[in-house]
Amino acid sequence: MKPEISNHRRDFPMLTRKMHGQPLIYLDNGATTQKPLTVLNRMDQFYREEYATVRRGVYGLSQKATEACIASRETCRRFLNARSADEIVFTKGTTEAINLVAASYGRKFVQAGDEIIISEIEHHANIVPWQRLAEEKGAQLRIVPVNDQGELIFSAFEKLLSPKTRIVAIAHISNALGTIHPIREIIAMAHKAGAVVLIDGAQAAAHMNVDVRELDADFYCFSGHKTFGPTGIGVLYGKLALLTAMDPYQCGGDMIDEVRFEKTTFAPPPAKFEAGTPPIAQIIGLGEALRYIEAIGREQIAAYEHELLLYATEALRRIPGLKIIGEAHHKAAIISFIMDGVHPHDIGTILDSQGIAIRAGHHCAQPTMRRFGVPATARASFAFYNTREDIDELIKAVSSVRKVFGP
Ligand code: PMP
Repeated sequence: MKPEISNHRRDFPMLTRKMHGQPLIYLDNGATTQKPLTVLNRMDQFYREEYATVRRGVYGLSQKATEACIASRETCRRFLNARSADEIVFTKGTTEAINLVAASYGRKFVQAGDEIIISEIEHHANIVPWQRLAEEKGAQLRIVPVNDQGELIFSAFEKLLSPKTRIVAIAHISNALGTIHPIREIIAMAHKAGAVVLIDGAQAAAHMNVDVRELDADFYCFSGHKTFGPTGIGVLYGKLALLTAMDPYQCGGDMIDEVRFEKTTFAPPPAKFEAGTPPIAQIIGLGEALRYIEAIGREQIAAYEHELLLYATEALRRIPGLKIIGEAHHKAAIISFIMDGVHPHDIGTILDSQGIAIRAGHHCAQPTMRRFGVPATARASFAFYNTREDIDELIKAVSSVRKVFGP
């Protein structure tokens, strides 16, 4: 383990606790990540010493809270390398960000006969909003298939693209399989066809560099709770011209310019999409979390997690009767697997009794499970605070599952 990374493990109080008398080994980072002290302390300090509302206050506390939120938005801008902080919309998370684009961009710009392209291995959050939009508009949802490794079949994508393609929505990294999609190429191809591209970055933001300008992404979104930040907050990046052209998502306080009973005019983005009192503490906590990630370095994180992936993959492959689902060439540190004769839920339960937290189920990706002919998988997903020792414990525990259920 690289010392500079291992030092940061100590920043996470949750990683020192025990489960069922055993040290907790937390391997469900694809679902959510643990929080470092700096985030916990910053939010605690805000609630204890600085708490006030934002935007409306003329008093000092409110102005300070407003400044802290502005600073957080600037951190998000830098984190994604967006051109302007006005391109950063705070949402509840990835799910709300995608729903926002489907509702605000989709309702306005998608017409009957248009097409929306997604991949076969999306999270439900990047399927259902588009499906609903297509149903409402009389548009078609088109699905790019993946090969047996879980990689997008590019020739099929190329064939699906046409002047009818209005939106391409695709994950940066698949949460169920770990596939890293070549999104720069996908975006370039979609743009050539005249489509707008949304990238679901829920699994990517905390694990690799993201530069929305270099990618030329039209929309990019992620969740705070998967980036070592609080729940209830996420980011939607959108190109300013697109956000400006879109209609509001929800209506209420703070998103207006002027309200008259005859007609209301709206604030420019991002305020136009942020109706109501925002999750102030969460916004501040998210800023702290992203600065924490930046201080460690996303390239270092990616390199370290890749080492963990290789180490774990090799060890899991040696366990008889175990099959890894999703073996893309470009893969994040997420490993889905099944075992002969053992339900993934049983794997999860047995591992839990040994203090090891993994996910078991369909991972909100039922079409992915269907594609690979399995009802569910067990999934271990890593973060930079995991170690080879964690993986050794995982391997020991998974091997013990075979002893319980027999070969
Ligand atoms: N997309 C992907 C790829 C995800 O992994 C997740 C979370 N599992 C989501 C979307 C939804 O994120 P959230 O629940 O934080 O809105």
